[in-house]
Amino acid sequence: MFSLDREKDTICALASAPGSGALAIIRMSGDRSLSIIKKLFSQISNTEVRSHQVYYGFLRNPVDNALIDEVMVTYFESGRSFTGETSVEISCHGNPVIVNEILRVLIEQGARAADPGEFTYRAFSNGRIDLVQAESVLNVIQSRTKSAARVALRQLQGGLSSEVESICENLTWALSRLEANLDFSSEDIEFATERSIFERLDLAKNELSNCVNSFEQGRKLVSGVRVALVGAPNVGKSSLLNALINEDRAIVSEMAGTTRDTIEADIIIDGTRFVFVDTAGLRDSADEIERLGVERSRNEIDKADVVLLVRDLDASSEESWPLIGQEKVTVKVLNKSDLLGAGASGDLADYILVSAKTNQGLGELRTHLSKMLGNQISEESAAVLSVRQFEMLSEALDFVERGLALFLDKASPEFVISELQGALKVVLRVLGKEFDDEVLDRVFRDFCLGK
Ligand code: GDP
Repeated sequence: MFSLDREKDTICALASAPGSGALAIIRMSGDRSLSIIKKLFSQISNTEVRSHQVYYGFLRNPVDNALIDEVMVTYFESGRSFTGETSVEISCHGNPVIVNEILRVLIEQGARAADPGEFTYRAFSNGRIDLVQAESVLNVIQSRTKSAARVALRQLQGGLSSEVESICENLTWALSRLEANLDFSSEDIEFATERSIFERLDLAKNELSNCVNSFEQGRKLVSGVRVALVGAPNVGKSSLLNALINEDRAIVSEMAGTTRDTIEADIIIDGTRFVFVDTAGLRDSADEIERLGVERSRNEIDKADVVLLVRDLDASSEESWPLIGQEKVTVKVLNKSDLLGAGASGDLADYILVSAKTNQGLGELRTHLSKMLGNQISEESAAVLSVRQFEMLSEALDFVERGLALFLDKASPEFVISELQGALKVVLRVLGKEFDDEVLDRVFRDFCLGK
């Protein structure tokens, strides 16, 4: 994706959100940043410029001296900027016409438009951050809740990286001792006792499994707790979803349905993000399209952290509830409670009574979900946030577990070493110390311009 011959270019892009606003920020990074800005901005060209200092003045087009905008320019010297390169940040008025003109002139003067994620990529390739931190940049920007932002920020500061570094160290320690023992085995020299090697490997295994286990926590924090609404047609699932969203209009953003058969929307309850999914397609049908819908609904149920089994007053509507495995958390909801007659309660103790029409019971439903699931998410233990990290660390854990088992079985050291080398390689790839285009592509493809 990013080619080496382009890495020397000086790049520029809008770093703030596109559109109109009071201010916009344009970033430029690369060797020529200072010489380019000097051509447009006399306040910098006329002084001995100092890093991290803000300069106020007017940008002019060097070709015809035309005024472009009134701006504040911050200069960062090489080695002390986000990318590690000489950089400049221009705060200008947040008008897309002005922003485009500034970018056009910067490019005319020798900069190039940055690719998405290229600033962060440069921070990585210049050794300012590792790959885990690069991924956190995106998470810090995209976090929807305070706690998710805090976890992402902790990782950006190297929280997770240091845990992964520690795994690397323990694996390297054990590997080097095993190799040394092997090399000198004929001379009866033992560099490390079996006990000490075991302890290191066991430590690496525990560290890895902690990371892997924290993925679920991290996923819930960032992507939200998934709640699938399931039940017969017409019990009021979509109405319920709408009612839940409407009540929180101020803090809700509706997401485009991922498929034509499911609609999802998220709300924040007590600081936890919950994503509600209306599985509209859950009905048995011979029709091919509907059958696909049913299949997708089943997938949604599998992916969900909790399933809301919805029925209405008609007890037979409960019969279409799908069989759901024991491991899945379910909540029984009776909708249309506004139609319940004064004495017609029956045995409804197992249900949360709600009405999508009158909003009755919705508060109780949300509190129930929050108590049941929101409180389980621990910010402290949430760490691994990307699928890439999770998959790789799981792979490393498999290697270490196999290696440890072989070690305990007194297998020939070559076999143990081979497993540990496999683990170490994967862990190094997590940090980006060993990488290839595929890994980089996975990390940086989600970035947008200016990041
Ligand atoms: P779905 O097929 O399960 O998604 O059900 P819908 O949300 O489309 O609702 C089916 C019908 O039930 C619609 O006519 C709704 O207006 C009605 N309905 C939904 N919720 C309530 C409720 O709480 N009270 C009453 N009285 N009617 C409701």
